[in-house]
Amino acid sequence: MKRLQDLVRPNIWALKPYSCARDEFKGMKADVFLDANENPYPNGVNRYPDPLQEQLKQAISPMKGVPVENIFLGNGSDEAIDLPFRIFCRPGKDNVVAIDPTYGMYEVCADVNDVEYRKVPLTEDFDLDTDALLSACDDNTKIIFICSPNNPTGNAFQREKIERVIKEFHGIVIVDEAYSDFSSQRPLRFDIQKYPNLIVLATFSKAWAAAGIRLGMAFASTDIIGLFNKVKYPYNVNILTQQRAMEIIGNATLLQRHISMILEERDTLIKAVSLLPICKKIYATDANFFLVKVTDADGIYHYLVEKGIVVRNRNKVHLCGDCLRITIGTKDENTKLLAALRQYT
Ligand code: PMP
Repeated sequence: MKRLQDLVRPNIWALKPYSCARDEFKGMKADVFLDANENPYPNGVNRYPDPLQEQLKQAISPMKGVPVENIFLGNGSDEAIDLPFRIFCRPGKDNVVAIDPTYGMYEVCADVNDVEYRKVPLTEDFDLDTDALLSACDDNTKIIFICSPNNPTGNAFQREKIERVIKEFHGIVIVDEAYSDFSSQRPLRFDIQKYPNLIVLATFSKAWAAAGIRLGMAFASTDIIGLFNKVKYPYNVNILTQQRAMEIIGNATLLQRHISMILEERDTLIKAVSLLPICKKIYATDANFFLVKVTDADGIYHYLVEKGIVVRNRNKVHLCGDCLRITIGTKDENTKLLAALRQYT
């Protein structure tokens, strides 16, 4: 890995971050707050939230097995995807490398930040081509994105292959583990101490049943987390999200129950779909969705929409011709989907 200072944009390295009222007083005791121009009359949201979400991080830390100082929390993991572009990539000069196909926001964030986005195709069976990934990089490559389990293909990549990329690349490797709660593979977040160039992403939007509160996580070295905190908006996670997340974390039994139900339903649905005449191939999945190659993805997609059932049409995505991506729903939703697909002619 290059020195962190040589990877970070010089303006960000030199940046003096905004110091908010609550940062300045931090650590002292007070019960009269006349520092932030808030309305003093309590209604539950009249005060600014904790800018560094200490209490929430204390609760997330044991659950994820990552020390508080190695955690960044953001407005969805989309914020944690965008920030590294702003921290590491000089617009119009640097580039990032990503597997293809993968989650579309990496490319959108690259475009927004005027950063070249280099796509490296997965193999035909959706495996990681580590040699191709590494040889797509040059001196101006700042980040490699690997999503595992990958969206939209659903498969998790072998750890050894991902670790080879982390070890051999001179820049930052972002591993997006949004779906790792559904996978039996050991998450890479446990290795952030071992790899100073690794950033692992996770989210409350999938297994945790909280897409609506917009809470994403990044796990990385304290130096990288310090850079995230320097560049983020001062109060990036609102008070309602922080409160609701605390309640959700308190109910880990529900999380485990949801995961088991989804995995059980996934097996049942995949078996049933594989028997349908429209099904050409179902790809192996480690996520709460699966990719299926069908006889006519566009036709079936529109047919399902007319029946009030929405799946994701991935027909136009590289290597995913005639593929639909289907999220595992409740038993009732999956039964409706199957009934509709059985009637398709
Ligand atoms: N990463 C992956 C791989 C995703 O598929 C998604 C959402 N579809 C996200 C991140 C975004 O998650 P969030 O809701 O936390 O922004």
